[in-house]
Amino acid sequence: MSSRSPFRLASRAIDSAKRPFSGAEGRRAPLAVLSEIRQAAAVCKACDLWKNATQTVFGEGKPGAIFMMVGEQPGDSEDRKGRPFIGPAGRLLDNALAEAGIDRDDVYVTNVVKHFKWSASERGKRRIHKKPRDSEIVACRPWLDAELEVVKPRVLVCLGASAAQSLLGKDFRVSRQRGQVVDSNLAPAVVATVHPSSILRARDEESRSEQLNDFIQDLKFVARLAKSIK
Ligand code: SF4
Repeated sequence: MSSRSPFRLASRAIDSAKRPFSGAEGRRAPLAVLSEIRQAAAVCKACDLWKNATQTVFGEGKPGAIFMMVGEQPGDSEDRKGRPFIGPAGRLLDNALAEAGIDRDDVYVTNVVKHFKWSASERGKRRIHKKPRDSEIVACRPWLDAELEVVKPRVLVCLGASAAQSLLGKDFRVSRQRGQVVDSNLAPAVVATVHPSSILRARDEESRSEQLNDFIQDLKFVARLAKSIK
């Protein structure tokens, strides 16, 4: 691994963030560390997903955010704009957070995979989301670990099965275990719920409304959980 390896850059930035303050050579502000990690991730080629994507979509939010919400991967809009959770699912998430009484500024959003994986639709006009392989999720994991290290959220929320299974184990089932606090060293409290995109795919309006309500209830629980942790 060369000294210019993005992973080397990320781990150097994390080491710096951990170092105790000792004058001019001491610890840098977490925001600067996060920015350095973001720059390193921007040139990552640790798996093949960068080849067909527009750009790395790194997480967004501030260090010290109370909540970190982790999805699977950026979607079409996110890939084009280079920002996570800004498409239809992101808008649904924002509205649900507001309904649950969670301030959007208290939330850091990111994905387990930072490049958009897709295949062309039959007529080649649309880019269809493709599930990332385990090897791609594993290759991308150091970036998420770096984000966790700097942001240090009080509550980590896995959005959907891909995020939950990659962070909480292959046996984790969102359908059965959503809303349960999971024992993990990733954050003081870790829970999982559905990905907002699954609500958008509901078969009809009634089902969508039910699923949205359940999602908001999960977020309200997450808000209460954060208050219980000091
Ligand atoms: S998906 Fe992750 S590991 Fe793969 S190239 Fe992109 S940033 Fe690197």
